[in-house]
This record gives sequence, structure tokens and C-alpha cells, in this order.
Amino acid sequence: MSNRPFEEHNIIGDKRSFVFHDLSRESEECAIDEIVEAEAIQLFGPDEPSEARNRGYKAHGACSSGAQEAGAA
Ligand SMILES: [Zn+2]
Repeated sequence: MSNRPFEEHNIIGDKRSFVFHDLSRESEECAIDEIVEAEAIQLFGPDEPSEARNRGYKAHGACSSGAQEAGAA
């Protein structure tokens, strides 16, 4: 990907909405670049959905593991 400051992270939070994204399942709806431009990125350590939830973030529907069952290819 392009100039992202979080190459080693998959779990990316949006500080404005308290929603987190899983970049391994990133979709267009995630608009990650827009979060970067707004400088609203939150990284987590460990880089896991459970840690994001512990911090009060909610999974983004389009890229959460739950979306897998909801179906796509
Ligand atoms: Zn997302």
C-alpha cells in the first residue's frame, strides 16, 4: 500500500468514531486513507481486535470477522 504509517498493524482505530478496522479485510467502506488524512488513527498493542474492544472501540461491519459469515465470496 501507499504511504501508511502503520505498516505492521492490521487493527486501525478511528479516534473520531471509535470504530476499528481490520486491514486484512479492508474494503472500500473503511476509507482508511480518509482517517489518515484526518490524523485520527489509533493503533493498538497488541494489534488485535480484542485489545481495540478493551479500549472501547467497536468493529467496523464491513471488515470485522463477523462480516465473513455475512457473506461475500
Ligand atoms: Zn473497516
